[in-house]
Amino acid sequence: MSAQTQIPILDLKPQIESLWPELQAAFERVMKSGHFIMGPEVKAFEEEAAAYLGVKHAIGLNSGTDALYIALRALGVGPGDEVITTPFTFFATAEAISHVGAMPVFVDIEEDSFNIDPDLIEAAITARTKAIIPVHLFGRPCDMDRILAIADRHGLKVVEDCAQSFGAKWKGRHTGSMGIFGCYSFFPTKNLSAFGDGGMMVTNDEELAATARMLRVHGSRKKYFNETVGYNSRIDELHAAMLRVKLPHIDIWNTARRRAADRYKGLLENVPRLISPEVIHGHVFHQYSVLIPEDRQDEVQTSLQESGISTMVYYPVPCHKLKLYQDSHAVVTCPVAEATSQKILSLPIWPEITEEIQRRIAFAIRRCL
Ligand SMILES: *Cc1c(COP(=O)(O)O)cnc(C)c1O
Repeated sequence: MSAQTQIPILDLKPQIESLWPELQAAFERVMKSGHFIMGPEVKAFEEEAAAYLGVKHAIGLNSGTDALYIALRALGVGPGDEVITTPFTFFATAEAISHVGAMPVFVDIEEDSFNIDPDLIEAAITARTKAIIPVHLFGRPCDMDRILAIADRHGLKVVEDCAQSFGAKWKGRHTGSMGIFGCYSFFPTKNLSAFGDGGMMVTNDEELAATARMLRVHGSRKKYFNETVGYNSRIDELHAAMLRVKLPHIDIWNTARRRAADRYKGLLENVPRLISPEVIHGHVFHQYSVLIPEDRQDEVQTSLQESGISTMVYYPVPCHKLKLYQDSHAVVTCPVAEATSQKILSLPIWPEITEEIQRRIAFAIRRCL
């Protein structure tokens, strides 16, 4: 890559090019079948994804956002209920809670993992709390032992937001397979991605799986015999077929992301006032996010942009600070999330990123700081 070439935050081209013949074959198979909704590709993808994740039921949906609110609906969470989650996430996590009429209760994050702090969860539980939604942010698994133990003690359901963690593992188990539901997104930038919107939820509970399937198609188990107000949230045959091509490669891609994270760790060592993330077992590095001094965030991002390096701030506003929640909420403070949003910077990462590109990025960061 020449010095002039803009380095994107994510480059999907190598992945698509390497699978081109198989993707094309899948595309032709679906187009010629004339079957576009809820056909054999969706069924096969659900079976293959469930087998990969080690769960009994997988339900293909049209987004990760839908997966979250269908999970909450299936659990009967609604108006008057509270759901505990992290403020340091993509808005969809909190939105799903609000969407079903419940109230998100935000609990601060850990400084090093960026995930919800298990030490602070119990203090946020009230008589109205129904569920906890941990988010395995940036692909790093949450401490599920502690979260599940707290949920158990208080009779709460755990819905895992795995939108960024497909393939991540906590002590040998896939994220999404430990809570009552695991919710996934196949948005184009996620580790396992479709060519448009897509999502999935998984569970080991037969009855809840049937309820979720019913909610997916307008609240009907039998066509035209609608029993509740549901959704139109099916994953397309075309997307399912494409995802079936990609699924067998996810472990290789995730391992390559982890290797890239290891390389960054070495390259960014001793950069003054920069904290790079720990490369823990099972982390799938959906994002590689470093912390820099907060008074430098804008300036470093601009300077990298001028050097042809794209970066992102995930997330500039923690959910509890969003204007739309200011009236409806008791004032909560999440000082770690607030400080992190001012210091965080996500660097380019994708499975095929080369050491040469990473060197160029590290060099530019070192020069700034
Ligand atoms: C992407 C994402 C979602 C939403 O997924 P969509 O498929 O875009 O609806 C939910 N939660 C988190 C943490 C995400 O990153």
